[in-house]
Amino acid sequence: MRMGELFQTEDWKKEKHVPVIEAPDSVDVNEVFEVKVSLGKEIEHPNTTAHHIRWIRVYFKPEGGKFAYEVGSFEFAAHGESTDGADTGPVYTHHQVTCCMKANTSGELVAAAYCTIHGLWENSRGIKVG
Ligand code: FE
Repeated sequence: MRMGELFQTEDWKKEKHVPVIEAPDSVDVNEVFEVKVSLGKEIEHPNTTAHHIRWIRVYFKPEGGKFAYEVGSFEFAAHGESTDGADTGPVYTHHQVTCCMKANTSGELVAAAYCTIHGLWENSRGIKVG
């Protein structure tokens, strides 16, 4: 078994677990830009103590390069837990993140997400730099 075999993907419009990556199609070299990653843009994903998105991670794989670089790792920590039991707490972290980055070469933004019940999901999107 290889780790990569555990990652599922699909069209995000049909599958609520697929990370949706929103970023510019092209930017200048070293221009800071925003990357927004969310889930359930078309079909809402649950956010309960038992069933939620635990984290999203963002990577950058430069064109022609061999290795991926981690851009950010975002943990979603609150899911309705409290002393009264599951789903009675006052706060839920929503599974969406916006981060800022810059790059000096074109490449692929790759996002991974983990659902507590449905496992690992991924998506990617190219970005032209320069
Ligand atoms: Fe799920």
